[in-house]
Amino acid sequence: MTRGLFLCGTDTDVGKTAVAESILRELVRGGVAVGVCKPVASGVTADGGDPYRLWLAAGQPGTLADVCPQSFAAPLAPARAAAAEGRCIDEALLVSAVEAWRGRSGCVVVEGAGGLYSPLSPRMLNADLARTLGFPLVVCDDARLGAIGRTLAVVTAARSQGHQVAAVVLSEVSDPGSADADDPQSPAAIALSAVEDLAERLAPLPVAFLRHGAERIEPALDWMGLAGCGLM
Ligand SMILES: [Mg+2]
Repeated sequence: MTRGLFLCGTDTDVGKTAVAESILRELVRGGVAVGVCKPVASGVTADGGDPYRLWLAAGQPGTLADVCPQSFAAPLAPARAAAAEGRCIDEALLVSAVEAWRGRSGCVVVEGAGGLYSPLSPRMLNADLARTLGFPLVVCDDARLGAIGRTLAVVTAARSQGHQVAAVVLSEVSDPGSADADDPQSPAAIALSAVEDLAERLAPLPVAFLRHGAERIEPALDWMGLAGCGLM
């Protein structure tokens, strides 16, 4: 049976794509035939946006349209971004775009759009799609101040609705610069203390960190193993 991970954020622009890229590369290094899907993307510019980054990280499996069959230019919620182009979100395609990868991959990495409760369409939230797919969540947040509260809110809400959470990854979206790492107010110190705090509060749930610009998530996690836990 094909395994999968559904990456959701605590908000938009919290570094999900960088986390997805790192997970994809790790799986590819491990010899896994990966599938990758961004069921809907908005704010997609000429550089190809998130779908193109994901496709590259996965080793260019299938076509870009297989990765993201519904992409829109406006940086808005998907339904509004679609409407700006005179289109509508195809809800069935949100699901079938991911399902199409099942038969031809060992693990499918799905990047949602925005936060767990952000809308994908007028009727479907990220949480609804994750439930339909049956994939465990990887909860991503920006490692800036507030990460502990944002992350605990999403993990708690997800679990209360029966979602399996596979891991938490804090992503250092902004360059922390060269500020004194001993200064507790420095971005680097805030990020590290948030990771440590969450690891303690959420144990045994794995809590990991992706430094700004880094290739690998630390500590290294067994993503294939984590992808094996579905909905309770
Ligand atoms: Mg993204």
